[in-house]
Order: sequence, then C-alpha cells, then structure tokens
Amino acid sequence: MREFTYAAPERPALALAALARAGAAPIAGGTELLNWMRLGIAEPAELVDVGRIGGWDRIALEDGMLHIGALATLNAVEAHEDVRRYAAALSQACLKAASAQVRNRATLGGNVLQKTRCEYFRAEAPLPWPCNKRDPGSGCAARHGVNERHAILGWTDACVATQPSDPAVALACLDAEADVIGPDGPRSIAMTEFHLSQAQAAELSPGRAAQLETRLAPGELIAGYRIPLREGERSAYVKVRERESFEYALVAAAAAVRLEGGVVREARLALGSVAQKPWRLDAAEAVLAGAPLTREIARSAIRAALADARPLAMNAYKIEMGANAALRALLAAGGQA
Ligand code: SF4
Repeated sequence: MREFTYAAPERPALALAALARAGAAPIAGGTELLNWMRLGIAEPAELVDVGRIGGWDRIALEDGMLHIGALATLNAVEAHEDVRRYAAALSQACLKAASAQVRNRATLGGNVLQKTRCEYFRAEAPLPWPCNKRDPGSGCAARHGVNERHAILGWTDACVATQPSDPAVALACLDAEADVIGPDGPRSIAMTEFHLSQAQAAELSPGRAAQLETRLAPGELIAGYRIPLREGERSAYVKVRERESFEYALVAAAAAVRLEGGVVREARLALGSVAQKPWRLDAAEAVLAGAPLTREIARSAIRAALADARPLAMNAYKIEMGANAALRALLAAGGQA
C-alpha cells in the first residue's frame, strides 16, 4: 500500500481546502475507501477525514423538510423517530444496507458514493481481465462473462455495472435533494439525478464514461440531504438478496404512496441494483395516479414500465424479480402487505 498523510479538518472550509491538494481523498466512516486502497482501486496521497466536521450528523425536521446530515450513521438514520415516521423507506433501507457493525461506522454520505460490487472490478490489482472502470479502454469482462448481478437498464457495452447503495434508492424515491459544498460554492442535486447510468455517463463524457458514476464534481462534498414532508404519504423498502444477514441486493425497490379512499393520489417507485443509478419507474407512477391501489393495476403498470429493460445473458430474472419487489414495496407502503 502506498504511504499517505492524514488530515482531520473540523470545519467545512478547511476540508475543502485540504481536498484541493493533489491526491487528496475524503474519508468518513472508512468502510468503503479502505477497501479501495486495499484492492488498488484508489491510492490517495492524503486522507482528509471529514468525520469531525461539527453538525453534519444532525437529523431534524425544519421548514417542511427532513434534514439528515451526511455524517449521520446508517444506524442513527434507521433508528431516528422522524425518519421512521416520515421516510420509512429510508429507515428500512439503512437497516438492510449492512451488518450492525458496519452500520455503526458507515455514514449516509459515504454509502451513496460506494462503487459497484462487480466481481471483475472488486479484485486485487493487477487485474488479469479487462475492466474499463479500473483500466480505461481495456474492455468489460462482465459484458459477455458472469453477469447475473449486473444491469438490465441504462448500460452500454463499455460497462454493465450496477450501483449497490440501498439508501440511494430510497432517497431517489422520496425526492430527496443532496446539499453539496465545493470549490464553486454550495449547490443541490436531486437524488434522482445524482447517480448516472452508463448511457448518461457516455453522453456527458464519452472518453471516461465507465469512471463517471455521479454528478459530484472533484473536490465537492455532500453535507446532507433534504427530504420533503408530504402529508399522508407512506413509504416502504424491499430488498431481495441471497441471505438475510448481510448481503448486497439482487434487486431492491422503494415505494412511496399517498392514498385517498383507496385511490392513489401520488405514487413514486424506484428500483435498485438494476442500473448504475436508482431507476425511477415514471411510467408506472403516471398510470397509478388516480387509480385504485389494487394488485392487478399495480402489477400491470410496473411491468409496462419495465418494457425497455435489456437483460444480459445471465440476468433476465431481474425483470420479474424487480417487478415483484416494486409491487411488494408499493402494497406495503399502501398498507396492503
Ligand atoms: Fe468493469 Fe464495469 Fe465491466 Fe464490471 S461491468 S468489468 S466494473 S467495466
């Protein structure tokens, strides 16, 4: 492992100044970056520990919004009374995201920035196979290799990886905004747009599409998230995985719904582990608005919204599994589990 220096700024401005130095990388809980360093995915010259910035772990209701600091741990988010009440899908996603030990360290800010679990990507350097994310221009071993856990939406021949964060799916479903600070000042990024599918990345940056995973610019930090409070809305999260104890999702789904007399006034659905971004089912949301919440209508709307899915050789099962997960999440949010 390459030698590195360590800084622990306690104020945002000092953290941004440190991150402007060549080779600097932010670290908070350390549950992801240290893996990258061990595997040779990242070799930072300086670790900038942002975990001591005051107030960035706060969770509070203010101005009709649920505010969650980026340094709030997954366990703190999961257990918070207001998150459980107003953003149940996020609480459930945090609970299912990792083991108890990891959830005590991992932060909500860091979790959404985790990289793909593609087995070809998560191997120790030097890699004996091509991977455009690790070695740009080398190719994609998963495209015609073992790809049962890979994308069915938004992929390109350059990379078929998925984004594995559970909380990111819930945040996209709940219309959360990420509050970001950086060298050019503060800004907000809708969590529906925060991550990039490979197709979007290819449009934005054809030369480095496989490396481009989010709209976060170099030197920027997530300070926190804002989730709008919607009267009468309920939400739920469903994660399908091979074992319940601690595992990444085969597919996951978050749903939020507001009902009046059994009729859907508004519904939002997002799938996880089907693309390099949480995938909102906009077409299903449009069909559901104004319709009674029945299993038959919901199933038909969700399946139609997945008509554009393009499975790889080994993962066609994700279409059916994703549709079922979305249906379960929607019915659970609507009190029909
Ligand atoms: Fe690498 Fe992406 Fe292909 Fe996996 S899917 S081998 S991360 S290029």
